[in-house]
Order: sequence, then C-alpha cells, then structure tokens
Amino acid sequence: MLKTQHHRWLGLLLWGLITALGSVALARLELSQQREAFETDARIVHRLLSQRVVQHDAVMATLALLQTAPGVSPPEQRLPSLYPQILSVQRRDAGAAWPDERLRVAETLSRALRRPTLAGVDFARGRYQLVLAAEPASFALAMDLRAVVPWSEWPMPPETSPVRVVLQHEGQDWVVQPGRLGEGGWRFDFHKHLAADSQPFHVVAWRQVGWRELPWGWMLAWAGLVAAALSSWLALQRQRAARRRAEELLRLGQVARLNTLGELAAGMAHELNQPLTAVLANTQASARLLDEEPPDMPVIRSAMAQAVEQARRASAVVGRLRRAVERPDLAAQLQPAGLQQAVQNALYLLEPELTRREVVPRLELPTARVVVLAEPVALEQILHNLLMNALQALEQVPARERQLSVSVQAEAGQGRITVTDSGPGMTDEVLARIFEPFFTTRETGLGLGLSLCETLATGMGGSLQAARRAPRGAEFRLLLPLVPGAPESQS
Ligand code: ADP
Repeated sequence: MLKTQHHRWLGLLLWGLITALGSVALARLELSQQREAFETDARIVHRLLSQRVVQHDAVMATLALLQTAPGVSPPEQRLPSLYPQILSVQRRDAGAAWPDERLRVAETLSRALRRPTLAGVDFARGRYQLVLAAEPASFALAMDLRAVVPWSEWPMPPETSPVRVVLQHEGQDWVVQPGRLGEGGWRFDFHKHLAADSQPFHVVAWRQVGWRELPWGWMLAWAGLVAAALSSWLALQRQRAARRRAEELLRLGQVARLNTLGELAAGMAHELNQPLTAVLANTQASARLLDEEPPDMPVIRSAMAQAVEQARRASAVVGRLRRAVERPDLAAQLQPAGLQQAVQNALYLLEPELTRREVVPRLELPTARVVVLAEPVALEQILHNLLMNALQALEQVPARERQLSVSVQAEAGQGRITVTDSGPGMTDEVLARIFEPFFTTRETGLGLGLSLCETLATGMGGSLQAARRAPRGAEFRLLLPLVPGAPESQS
C-alpha cells in the first residue's frame, strides 16, 4: 500500500515536472519564432521607409540640376502627379524671398550642409517639408507621410497586425500602423534611424505577446502525452511489483512446501507399506500357528523374527525420512536483521490479501532500528505465517471489526515483534495445543504453520508465544536476541 502510494506521488511529481519543462520549452520556441518574425518585419519596414526617403533626396538633387530659367514652364510642378507623397513644390528664385521664415532658415542650413534639410515637421497632420538650397533657385517640397509608406510592399496587414510601427522625430510621433497593445506578457522592440541624413526620423516598432498567445493547445497535448506515458509506466511498475510478490511468495515456500509434503506422504506410504504388510502377515500367521495343538514353535519364532526385522525396516525408513527433512542448522546462519524492515516486507507481500479483506494494519515501529540475530528467510516465514493466521482469524468477524496491529520493540537484550488481531481468539484448549504439529481447528488447515514457526524461532535462539487478547482476539509474540554488543536500538 505504502509503495503504491509512493509510486503514485512520484508519478504525479514527475508528470508535473516534465509537463512544466516541456511547456516552458514550447513557450520559448513559440516566443523565439514570434521574435524572429517580428524582427524580420521590422527590418523590412525600416528598409522600405529608408528607400523612400532616400528617393526624396534624389528627386531634389535632380530638380536642382535640371533648373530652367524663370518663366519657362517649370518641370517641378509636374512632380506631385509623379510622386503621390509630394503634395506641392515651392521654388524661390534668386532675389526672391520665402513666404515662410522656417523655409529660409532651412535653406541656410541646407546651403551649409550641402544636402536637403527638414522644415516644418508636423507629425500631427502627417506633413513635413524638405528644403534644398541651389543656384539660381532653391526648392521646398511639401511631403505627405501617409503616401510615403509603400503599402503595396508592406510585410504586414496594416489594420490587423499586432505590431505597432511609429515614426518619431524630436518628440513628435506619427503612427504608421497601430498594432495591438496589451498588458503583461513579453515585448519585442526595434529602434533605428532611417538611412537618410536629410530625414533622420526614428523608426520604432514593438510587439506585445500576451499570455493568451502562448501555444496552450500544444502544451495541453504535451501534458496529456506525458500523463499517458507515465500512467503506462506506473501500470508496468505495478505489474512488476505483483510479479515480484508472486515470486517472493513462491520463494517463501508456501506452495513448494505443500507440494513437498504431498510427495513426502506418497513416498512414506510406498516405503512403509511393504514392511507393514509383512509385519501384519507374519503376526497373523504366528497367531494362527499358536492356535494349533501343539504349536510349531520354531516356525512361529521364525515368523516373529521376520516381523521384528520388518518393523525395524519401517523404523529405519521413518528415521531416514526424518533425517531427509531435518532443517539445516539455523544457528549457523544467523545474521543481523532489522525487525522493522522484516515487518514492512512481510506486509508488502501480503498487500493483496489485506486489501481483499479490507484490513488496514496499524503499525507501531520505533524510528531507531531494532536489529536482531536471525536467519532472514526464517524470520520472514514466521512473520508471514503469523500474519496469514491473523487474517484467517479476522475473516470470521465483520469487516468493520477487523483490526490488525504489528509492533516492534527492543528490551532486555531481545527484539520483539507482536502481531495482534481482533479475531475470535482461542479457547484454553486450543491455546494449550497450538504449537503441536498437525493441530488445527480449520477444515483445510494442516496444523503445521505454528509448529514450524516455533521450531524456527527456537532454532534462532528465540521464542514464540501465543496469548489471548481481551476482550477478544489473539496475540503472538516473536522474541529474538538483539545483536550482541550493539546498543539496544541502532539508528
Ligand atoms: P493451520 O493454520 O493450518 O490451522 P497453524 O499451526 O498455523 O495451522 O494454526 C493452528 C491453529 O491455531 C489454527 O487452526 C487455529 O485454531 C489456531 N490459531 C492460529 N492463529 C490464530 C489466531 N490468530 N487466532 C485464532 N486462532 C489461531
């Protein structure tokens, strides 16, 4: 039970961990893809806008070169029809004055810098002017920002794209594309000046990725996949545990011992049958001969001698069998064994039996290890028998009255395991004979369990005691010597 629960928690923990790690990886992948897409778009936007403003410089330079004399139909007036972003062209011939002071200042600057300069930047209306000082005439272009953007080549749908694009100049903003602004999540930024000294606008783009844009579907699928994989792993573990348990039970010899017993009985019957038949025949013949008058004493004597001989043979068979099944010397195989561990192992093996009978054992195990000298398999066998007996006794009372407790103690140089059940208990007569071989009150019982346990316990230098429990139930105490020299309890 403990192990299954342990596996369940471990599985849950693993599931949480793997799901979290996978989800973080998926989210990071999604974010890095979004960032890459954003940066590509932002670079394209910057390049497109730069190309446009550089074009304005070229248009002005051409205008300055292709000047016509005043009065001749000026070519510059045709520009607005060629370039939609140019709203109008103003020209200042030599000696004339600009209508606007800002244009005059810009022209002076343009002359000094030898390139077009900005005048009257009005981002609120999406307008600015570009002035180029030239001889004999200077020019000023009025620009429409809306038409500066080459929408046909634009990399994003301007109305619905989540990316915000703004042109900035000396504290003024002109929103090229509104994008979507949200709270929380992640933010990608892009800042770069346009690649034209004459129109040094700042291109600012940013993109906010909200929590809702994370790949939740994939994360959910991942969590499901991990859960499926882990639960099959858990099922496999459970299967393995069940198999191990079955193997252990077999090792404990429950099945094997019964089989051997059957074989033993058959062998015994076979070997004893012949001498016993001979004894019977000889004694019957002797009885008959003794009735004759006079009895034939030499024949009778010979028949009786044969009967004795056969009886000896039978005795020898029994002796041989006894030696054959004699247990190896346990005392020579003693080693330190932890009682708590032995109890846990035995309960683990019996988990299915406990569950089937709805019994939850109550454990009283001290935290400090109680280490005794024992032969581990024998110790396991005793515990197994005591617990099985207790379970069989508990079957005779209603499920809600079933109590089983197992405790471990150390005192006076001995380690003690006490198994107590709330079953029907034992009468005085039963208690007196309980350790006798072949004593049983159960229909299918062999009556060998407790006698074997007692033999094993004494063989290890310990003892096994049975007692009645008030008001009802039985208690069995197994005592084994603590490891000499070691403190009574070890940690
Ligand atoms: P078996 O289980 O084959 O009968 P055991 O030697 O294990 O052989 O038990 C002998 C007898 O002792 C049982 O038939 C039963 O009457 C009695 N006994 C053993 N354990 C308990 C117990 N926990 N409660 C009541 N009686 C018990």
